[in-house]
Amino acid sequence: MSSRALVLFSGGQDSTTCLAWALDRFDHVETLGFDYGQRHRVELDCRATLRRALAAMKPAWRARLGEDHTIEVGAIAQVAQSALTQDMAIEMAEDGMPNTFVPGRNLIFLTFAAALAYRRGLRHIVGGMCETDFSGYPDCRDDTMKAMQVALNLGMNQRFVLETPLMWIDKAQTWRLAEELGGTALVDLIQQETHTCYLGERGALHAWGHGCGHCPACQLRADGFARYAAARSS
Ligand code: ZN
Repeated sequence: MSSRALVLFSGGQDSTTCLAWALDRFDHVETLGFDYGQRHRVELDCRATLRRALAAMKPAWRARLGEDHTIEVGAIAQVAQSALTQDMAIEMAEDGMPNTFVPGRNLIFLTFAAALAYRRGLRHIVGGMCETDFSGYPDCRDDTMKAMQVALNLGMNQRFVLETPLMWIDKAQTWRLAEELGGTALVDLIQQETHTCYLGERGALHAWGHGCGHCPACQLRADGFARYAAARSS
């Protein structure tokens, strides 16, 4: 069980980098996606393509990549009035939180992930939570993850390890990590096949990937890629 992992895999840039990171160090890696009625549901369609491409990248990665799981948590849309699940403009709310915030979303995801990991005998739970590029989501903070690890281990009588390889790096460094793990082939795959845009727009292929180019997720991704590319060419 010690070298078996479950990756929270949405099909976005961060979770794809996390999946490559996990394939690089664990013997057996399974993936988990959540369907919660998100507007950017297109990201779920990217997952199979990305899994196939990652498996084709290195023989060791092919040998390690295990089952894919999807859990429907449509109830999130019932309790959360969020721009992620409803057709409304993405903006900052009065309490300073972006209205893309779904309260406690990652707490819910991690609880389901741990329950699945328990059943599948997977010790490491890997997620792309990040505190560096401040997005205003308190359920992405390092302290939240550490508290969740304690709560899940107590509540399920396990020794899960919550792994967050992106916690202290910024978006430019996330691109660099992908390059370290899988060279330019992985960078190109992430650029072309992962989905980040909150509005679910695929649209034209920009240097940083597909997306509307205006929503906060697209802006963060575009800015990170520009800094990564500038550092690479200097
Ligand atoms: Zn966008």
